[in-house]
Amino acid sequence: MAADKDCIFCKIINKEIPSNIVFENEQVLAFPDINPKAKTHILIVPKEHREGLSVLKEDDVALVGKLMVSVREVAEKINLGSFRVIINSGSDAGQTVFHLHLHLLSPDGFMF
Ligand code: 5GP
Ligand code: ZN
Repeated sequence: MAADKDCIFCKIINKEIPSNIVFENEQVLAFPDINPKAKTHILIVPKEHREGLSVLKEDDVALVGKLMVSVREVAEKINLGSFRVIINSGSDAGQTVFHLHLHLLSPDGFMF
């Protein structure tokens, strides 16, 4: 599934909705959360639409691997020392956007 026409993150990925892109490569896009919960709060998303962790299959191992490796790439690019990563799965656990994403949270500030 390349893109979901009703998905807000697919629209950000396709640049239909503007965002301040922090990091981008062929597989992944990172941009600040619109409602930050920490001094630095970045969302990292795979460019291919997946609803979330609960739908991932063996075929998605490479996609998830790229997503996880990109955490270091983003953190290095914006000079984060310490950080934590959260993925919500399911609305009862706080998932509100059903395009797989990880929250990269840090008490460190960053500059573009
Ligand atoms: P979830 O609750 O699904 O784990 O995380 C979704 C996140 O997306 C929330 O933290 C919310 O603030 C953020 N968000 C929702 N809509 C937009 C948007 O249009 N732009 C950006 N940058 N973040 C968004
Ligand atoms: Zn999507």
